[in-house]
Formats: sequence, C-alpha cells, structure tokens
Amino acid sequence: MLACTALLAIVFVAGARELDAQTVRYGVLDDSVSAQLRAAWTDDSTQSERAYCIQRARIASRPALGGGSDSIFRVLAVRPAVTTGQDPNHVQFECAPGTPELHTHTPATCLTDDAGSCRADGPLAYSCQPSRSDYEELIARGDQYGIIQCDRRAFRFYYPSEYAAAPQRSRSTGSAP
Ligand SMILES: [Zn+2]
Repeated sequence: MLACTALLAIVFVAGARELDAQTVRYGVLDDSVSAQLRAAWTDDSTQSERAYCIQRARIASRPALGGGSDSIFRVLAVRPAVTTGQDPNHVQFECAPGTPELHTHTPATCLTDDAGSCRADGPLAYSCQPSRSDYEELIARGDQYGIIQCDRRAFRFYYPSEYAAAPQRSRSTGSAP
C-alpha cells in the first residue's frame, strides 16, 4: 500500500512538471462586439451560416502563477464578411490576411445543404465544434485563432494547436486500429 502511494506521488509530480510549460488560451469579446453578434443572431431554422472578419483584436500573454503562461485574445471589432456562397452548412468567404475569421453555426439540423432539409434543433444544431474544414482553413491562413458563434450568447474560440496529430496510443489501451 505504501509503495502504491509513493508511485502515485511520483506520477503526480511528473504530471505537474509537464503542465508547467503549457499555455492556456482565453478568448474574450468586447461588450460592443458580443452585443452586435447577439443582435444579428436568429433562431430561424432555414438560415445559412454567416461570417465576419475580426477588424481589431489585442493579444496579451502573461506568465501564470506556478509556471506556463496565459494568452488572452480580446476581440474589439468585427464586421460582416463579403461572402461568395452560403448555405445552412457552409459559408464561403475570405478575410484579409492577418484578419481572423468568425462564422456562425446554425440552430438547426440539415440533412443536406438545401434549406428545405433543415429542422429546428436536432443533433447538429448549436454545434460549437469546429469542423475539419474549419481547422484546415485556420491552418492554411496561419491565423492564431478563429471563432464560432453557436448560439445567441455562445462563442467558441479555436486554435491551431487543437488540430494536432493524435498521440500514439499505448498498447495497453487497446484494440482500436
Ligand atoms: Zn464551421
């Protein structure tokens, strides 16, 4: 029993050391920006995705207590993007280089890209998860973050570091290919 406790202590210390180098990222919208985006939100189940370019933002880093650092991404101004195509599951647009992007995910589940296939709510509605193509776009552009508005008051910041190669599975965890 004693040996077990000692082993746990070692694992805990090793884990803590690993965390020391971590950066934690916080995304924040200025009041005026969230007010603008809340006002534009609609619960219409046949809507297309919409997009914005982030016109002004401030990024600050500070050392965290106990090691590592915190990065704060504060968005100060956005404006609607010029879109070249949009449907309930996509929006095509391009913000200027160095101008990160924000797009909406809708409050509906749409079986195809046709608005006629959409129904309010359902399993795909209000999704705050970036899609694979959302991440690919972020990486291709070289932006430090992107944002999804997935409900009137819900905003999801996402970062290139989330789109990383899967860690090698250890043998003991099993059977997955
Ligand atoms: Zn998306």
